[in-house]
Amino acid sequence: MQVVKPKIEYEKFDGVKIMKNIERACRTCYRSEGSITEDSYKKLLTNCITRGHESVLEHEKITVRLTCDIGVYKDLTRHRAGASFSIESTRYCNYSKDKYTNSIKFIEPLYSDDKEKYAIWKKTMQHIEDGYMEMAKLDAAADELRMMLPHSTAAEVTMTCNIREWKHVLTLRCSKHAHPAIRQLLIPFLLLLKEKMPEIFDSVPYDEDFPKEKLAKISVIRG
Ligand SMILES: Cc1cc2nc3c(=O)[nH]c(=O)nc-3n(C[C@H](O)[C@H](O)[C@H](O)COP(=O)(O)OP(=O)(O)OC[C@H]3O[C@@H](n4cnc5c(N)ncnc54)[C@H](O)[C@@H]3O)c2cc1C
Repeated sequence: MQVVKPKIEYEKFDGVKIMKNIERACRTCYRSEGSITEDSYKKLLTNCITRGHESVLEHEKITVRLTCDIGVYKDLTRHRAGASFSIESTRYCNYSKDKYTNSIKFIEPLYSDDKEKYAIWKKTMQHIEDGYMEMAKLDAAADELRMMLPHSTAAEVTMTCNIREWKHVLTLRCSKHAHPAIRQLLIPFLLLLKEKMPEIFDSVPYDEDFPKEKLAKISVIRG
């Protein structure tokens, strides 16, 4: 059994380039391409967002790769418009095989500092893994084995959204009402987008009280 922390990686992007591309597309509406200057995108995008003219944000996209638990991706995949997913399949991945180091990976829960709760969680995950491996010895297929996997099971998720959908997803999923495990993963991404594309993401609210030391690690996708 392996216990891993959640993480988020993102495909390298140039925020200014994205905003300038959106500006160029948007100016088609007014045939004002001639008004483009080095920083004209700033005012244009701010005006579009204030007025709800947000479809222009659909011209650009960003991809992230998440290491998260099944509960997190169950919630994320509810987003249907402008979001695309490729998710590690528990129907095909048989964690009893060497390729997976003959073990199941679980995401460390946010209550790992609470010794009593964490001990119960860990004992339960170990018990599940023992059952999984025992059944695998009977040549059970991954299809059958997956019926024992809990929400804490780790999965790799590639998620691509257009910029409009990211704004929507992050508004819903970085709020205090969203599950803490999703906030843990997506707040670091929202903070990055606020820094790189303030004209678009500055107005997106988030749970500012979420403990900073618990936020997921964020980095660029390598390779
Ligand atoms: C805090 C929280 C709690 C939740 N609890 C539950 C729960 O208990 N049970 C549950 O089943 N779900 C729950 N959900 C999921 C929620 O109802 C949505 O399914 C999910 O957030 C996806 O958002 P969305 O519908 O905006 O989809 P997106 O695909 O992100 O859609 C983006 C926007 O496109 C438009 N749109 C998309 N599809 C349609 C459509 N078919 N018709 C018209 N307009 C459309 C809407 O304006 C929508 O906001 C919860 C979500 C949150 C954030």
